[in-house]
Amino acid sequence: PPDVEALGRSSWTLLHSITATYPERPTPQLQSETSTFLHTFSKLYPCWHCASDFQTWMKEAGNAPRVSSRDDFGRWMCQAHNAVNVKLGKSVFDCERWEERWRTGWKD
Ligand code: FAD
Repeated sequence: PPDVEALGRSSWTLLHSITATYPERPTPQLQSETSTFLHTFSKLYPCWHCASDFQTWMKEAGNAPRVSSRDDFGRWMCQAHNAVNVKLGKSVFDCERWEERWRTGWKD
């Protein structure tokens, strides 16, 4: 089985990088494709207990993928990552700073 920590770090890099390059005004088709991608990703993620918990989290009220704009999607991904951080006892990330971390670079 893959190294769950290395897999996680590289996967979050991919996922947050996708939100950072997502359009500010995505077409309805892209929004629909992005939702499908996230649902499929949550089934194929090669850490099975991680995948199962992630699918459960996405089904909870208020946690369905939000892909209506770059900012919406970036904040949703930050919240998804924070749910895993909480589960693992890691610090919660300030989602006001998602774009600074993943797109524009830290200001300080
Ligand atoms: P990571 O959590 O990998 O974070 C990498 C970097 O992202 C951080 O250094 C920080 O700069 C930034 N960051 C942190 N939080 C946020 C945020 N909320 N928003 C934006 N940027 C942020 N591991 C398990 O052991 N059990 C699980 O059930 C599990 N489920 C996972 C589910 C998914 C969908 C994914 C992608 C990963 C999962 N992982 C799980 C892996 C876990 O989340 C971590 O990736 C792994 O433990 C390594 O953690 P890390 O401390 O190196 O930093």
